[in-house]
Amino acid sequence: MEIKKILCPTDFSEVAKKAFEYAVFLASSQRAELVLLHVVDQLHGFENYEVLVLSPQEISERMEKQAYENMGSLVDQIKSAIEIETTVEHGKSSVQIIEKAREVKADIIVMGSHGRTGLSHVLIGSVAEAVVRHASCPVLVVKDMYQRPETL
Ligand code: ATP
Ligand code: MN
Repeated sequence: MEIKKILCPTDFSEVAKKAFEYAVFLASSQRAELVLLHVVDQLHGFENYEVLVLSPQEISERMEKQAYENMGSLVDQIKSAIEIETTVEHGKSSVQIIEKAREVKADIIVMGSHGRTGLSHVLIGSVAEAVVRHASCPVLVVKDMYQRPETL
């Protein structure tokens, strides 16, 4: 068995950043290639309104551009010499993550237990749960280590 390809989906939250650090460690110790993915969720129901300054299309494009910039700065902080590919997809996060894992033939997905919403009373977020349930490769869910026992 080998880990040659690691998929790390990020929503740029603190927990996702921890997962990324773990993915980088794993990639460097296994000499694996890392694919960093952000999914821009599709916008629903704005199509018929002209109150927006930007069209849904323009908003999506700007979100994609911003995501590439954010991923660029994550990659810039990495000191280990590993191969990292950054990519942005549009659609439903869990579906796109699972699809990408299949597409790049990921041996493992490394992601956070929570994301931007981060409701701590939920065991894991909905995206993490859907990926754990449906992905066809192992999923490593990195928790927010700052959660102290007394908050349980
Ligand atoms: P919820 O979204 O269900 O309200 P949450 O935001 O706390 O809860 P998730 O969205 O499940 O939790 O996030 C868990 C992990 O899933 C994140 O740390 C990140 O690794 C990944 N993730 C979430 N959203 C995206 C996204 N849009 N693109 C890429 N990865 C994502
Ligand atoms: Mn989320």
